[in-house]
Amino acid sequence: MEQNMTSLIMIFGATGDLAKRKLFPSLYRLFERGKLSERFAVIGVGRRTLSNDEFQQSIKDSVTSALGEKDDIEEFVRHFYYQSHDVADSNSYSALKKLADEVDEHYQLEGNRIFYLAMAPEFFGPIALHLKSDGLTDVKGYKRLVIEKPFGHDLASAKELNHQIRTAFSEEEIYRIDHYLGKEMVRNIEVIRFANAIFEPLWNNRYISNIQVTSSESLGVEERGRYYETSGALRDMLQNHMLQMVALLAMEPPISLTTDEIRSEKVRVFRSLRTIEGDEVKDYFVRGQYDAGTINGKQVPKYRDEPMVDQESNTETFVAGKVMIDNFRWAGVPFYIRTGKRMETKSTKIVIQFKDIPMNLYYQPEKMLNPNLLVIHIQPEEGITLHLNAKHAGGHLDAQTVKLSFSNTGTNAMNTPEGYEKLLYDCMRGDATNFTHWDEVAYSWAFVDKISNVWAKEKADFPNYNSGTMGPDAADQLLEKDGFFWWPVTDLDVDTCK
Ligand code: NAP
Repeated sequence: MEQNMTSLIMIFGATGDLAKRKLFPSLYRLFERGKLSERFAVIGVGRRTLSNDEFQQSIKDSVTSALGEKDDIEEFVRHFYYQSHDVADSNSYSALKKLADEVDEHYQLEGNRIFYLAMAPEFFGPIALHLKSDGLTDVKGYKRLVIEKPFGHDLASAKELNHQIRTAFSEEEIYRIDHYLGKEMVRNIEVIRFANAIFEPLWNNRYISNIQVTSSESLGVEERGRYYETSGALRDMLQNHMLQMVALLAMEPPISLTTDEIRSEKVRVFRSLRTIEGDEVKDYFVRGQYDAGTINGKQVPKYRDEPMVDQESNTETFVAGKVMIDNFRWAGVPFYIRTGKRMETKSTKIVIQFKDIPMNLYYQPEKMLNPNLLVIHIQPEEGITLHLNAKHAGGHLDAQTVKLSFSNTGTNAMNTPEGYEKLLYDCMRGDATNFTHWDEVAYSWAFVDKISNVWAKEKADFPNYNSGTMGPDAADQLLEKDGFFWWPVTDLDVDTCK
């Protein structure tokens, strides 16, 4: 793998929210840890007029508000340049090329370029085309394109976008961000599975009864109503983050840890997803939209009363689904996934529920034994918990649940890099493993489109869940009809060993 940290990073949308909150602090952390070579430079692009000094001041502000005062901040911001440029204006790319070439020469960047598109998706295609036609990609080093979600709105628009960017960049040069793949514990799924003799032999339909993936937010749609109205939870969360977690949980062990091997195993999971369409959609998927309610003692409005949201909106703010993977390992094991806004708590957790043992000698009618669970805590806390049954201390042979927990917070949380930091670093190293390949995007859109097509035709009975709850009743019934229930995420927090 390439280890060349010498690079010119061009951030399109450098005056925007993502750049300020995530990208600049992440770049600073790489600088602070010595992971950026002295030979790096950043050109920020936005429409508004800013001098280099003003731009550098905005970088300082963003780093300070995220990470506090830093002694070496001046040294860091000296590497930043700003170019006012309207990406829709074909004539202004030549000025950008001139600046890029000058900066390249000044820092001896060997023609290595990363183009980070932190902008609205409608600009992705036109920018990529201009980068090529105006010679910005005509370099002797590497050229890489980093793009933010959403990657299209459905399969057709994703194909169109992919076609546009592929005219300027090869698949190997495209880094499609799914920031969940930057999260420490999402990356840990592979290690937990493939480095532990006690899990991998059990990781199949003989021993696992079901898997539950929950990603709940307590926040509402906030100021993103305009975007969210065109998206909804299915497209915003399930098509990408949720299905990516399913793929990591379900993939076969790769023959090596190379990008190609891992990606091809993930793609095989996407190919095995059971297609849910037409009348079946109502049996496998549930949609919801939040009503008013109370969160942390505060009254919050319903979705339809949020800014930029239609009073009759049919957009789902919650989705739960039962995903089946029709292959040898997973036949018959439901993967239940749910995600939504204005839910009871902010939490992303994976629960692997093992099957009950064949003959439970410790069964007591009044006190059922709990099944073994492996809980992977993705956020806000990071760790793993294994739920076992053991003898109650001092009792006769009564069994109780004990939890073996590992929490990242207790050990190396201070050193845990933020997701974007890891993804930026991966991109500089040329490691695309934790970015989504086109095939993954295409299969996941094909899966999701079948559901959204059905939902688009029928007006839902919204709102159907109160803010501050875990979603509509129908999401609970989805599991109840299979004899399961959602493990309450608030009861599963990382505990110390008991
Ligand atoms: P934002 O705050 O609205 O920023 C948009 C940026 O684009 C600004 O820097 C703006 O600069 C620039 N821009 C807009 N039109 C332009 C044009 N014609 N020419 C040149 N620059 C132009 O958006 P954001 O929240 O940062 O989001 C950026 C992208 O990241 C979106 O695709 C979003 O879906 C994705 N994303 C964002 C987040 C997040 O946390 N914010 C998370 C995940 C994904 P001027 O105003 O100076 O023109």
